[in-house]
Amino acid sequence: MLELNNYINGEWIGPSNSDRNKVINPANQEVIAVAPRATKEETEEAIAVAKAAFESGVWSGLTAHERSEYLNKIADKIDENFDELVRLEVMDNGKIKAEAEFDIADAAGCFRYYAGLVLAPEGETYQVPEDVQAMIVKEPVGVAGLIVPWNFPLLMSVWKIAPAMAAGNTIVYKPAEATPITAMKLVEIIEEVGVPKGVVNLVMGRGSVVGQTIAESKDVDLVSFTGSTEVGREIMRAAAGNLKKISLELGGKSPNIIFADADFETAIDHALMGIYFGSGQVCSAGSRVLVEESIYDKFVETFVERAKLIKVGPGLDENSQMGAINSESQMNTILKYIEIGIEEGATLAYGGRRLTENGLDKGFFIEPTVFTDVTSDMRIVQEEIFGPVVTIQKFKDEEEAIQLANDTDFGLAGGVFSNDGAKALRVIKKVRAGITWVNTFGPTYNEAPWGGYKMSGIGRSLGTYGLDDFQEIKQININLAVEPSGWFPNK
Ligand code: NAD
Repeated sequence: MLELNNYINGEWIGPSNSDRNKVINPANQEVIAVAPRATKEETEEAIAVAKAAFESGVWSGLTAHERSEYLNKIADKIDENFDELVRLEVMDNGKIKAEAEFDIADAAGCFRYYAGLVLAPEGETYQVPEDVQAMIVKEPVGVAGLIVPWNFPLLMSVWKIAPAMAAGNTIVYKPAEATPITAMKLVEIIEEVGVPKGVVNLVMGRGSVVGQTIAESKDVDLVSFTGSTEVGREIMRAAAGNLKKISLELGGKSPNIIFADADFETAIDHALMGIYFGSGQVCSAGSRVLVEESIYDKFVETFVERAKLIKVGPGLDENSQMGAINSESQMNTILKYIEIGIEEGATLAYGGRRLTENGLDKGFFIEPTVFTDVTSDMRIVQEEIFGPVVTIQKFKDEEEAIQLANDTDFGLAGGVFSNDGAKALRVIKKVRAGITWVNTFGPTYNEAPWGGYKMSGIGRSLGTYGLDDFQEIKQININLAVEPSGWFPNK
């Protein structure tokens, strides 16, 4: 069993109280780690350290080249520790090995991307109606509070840590209580490559204590949060105290529109991946599949046949294709939604059960689940379930597909499948979401911005926009005619 510690001002600090978080493997409920639950005071200390480190210039004062070198070294160390990080992520989160392999490789790629981007030309100059050279430069925001969820523990952390470090900020980093293990490993790597003390501070603990303290603190200049829409709203309120910059990556209920002229096999394959990848615990999951009526019956029949074939099991078992639900409480939430769906009158076309056969009884496993005969007013169509539960709805034409797709408070992602390029573009442009795909569903790229419309968030991760979130823009005006203005000429 691992003993996890906080990392503040370059020191590993054990728990200061008896309140511990037992971290379990959701595939078998074994306790795999014990993590501290930091107090408000410890969190405030980490914030003070980050503030002092920022003001000292130990990080922001480095050249972009120097910071870039550190980021590349971190990426190299992630690669060196690849197998261990994959194993720990699987045990901590419950996802299958292939998914964790993607996450860890992508995390190294994200550090390399920002190591390169921070060296790209930046700033602008302006033509102004005076003999003045006007320009902007970009500067770090200051102390960045980073709060992450449990569904992609390392990757969601890196989407924030890499650009925050690249831009020259100092950091207070809070992983989710359910999945703190790779957070500690990442910070060990950051220490190993020699990042100065105080630049990255790791504080584990409850959202209501550690997270809330970060969000409220007057000494935190920016909070970057990924998690539920409900907590996002609380972060926004807490951040109002000092009007800190906020970036919110929140929940979704994303539509996946399948037209009759789509390549059928491609559409089925991506629709399955869209909802069952990560056992549906993915913010951008294609949880609402909308299918044109002429192929609806065939689509549902094929989808259910294929869902039945998905092998659910422990993430470290090479045969597993869909892993565990991250926690008992998340599993119970999903099972509750399945009950709600049945009560609302939807047809449970497949699944819906907790799986306990073949040695799965100790873990949290749920069958791939399919609901049909749903209407847009049902809770299972409107609310984020965050599990392997899909609703499949019928539409008659483009107009109805768009109307159903946008009939949600969320706006994170969306997909269209069609072999008619003009139609696919026409429809995807009308889907009110920040991340969209045509003839695929789900890929993310470090180079391209990620974030939502409506209640799915504010700001963008990744790409150049992901760096912008961690930078202030400073206007500099240089008077080239050094002479009095004459505005108050009286002498
Ligand atoms: P969550 O909102 O419960 O928790 C996220 C983080 O916030 C955790 O570290 C938690 O401890 C902390 N937290 C909880 N209460 C807090 C408070 N009052 N103040 C400050 N911090 C607090 O979310 P979760 O269950 O860990 O993750 C699942 C959610 O994350 C889903 O809604 C999912 O859609 C969303 N998500 C979004 C994206 C995206 O890119 N848009 C990516 C991944 C996950």
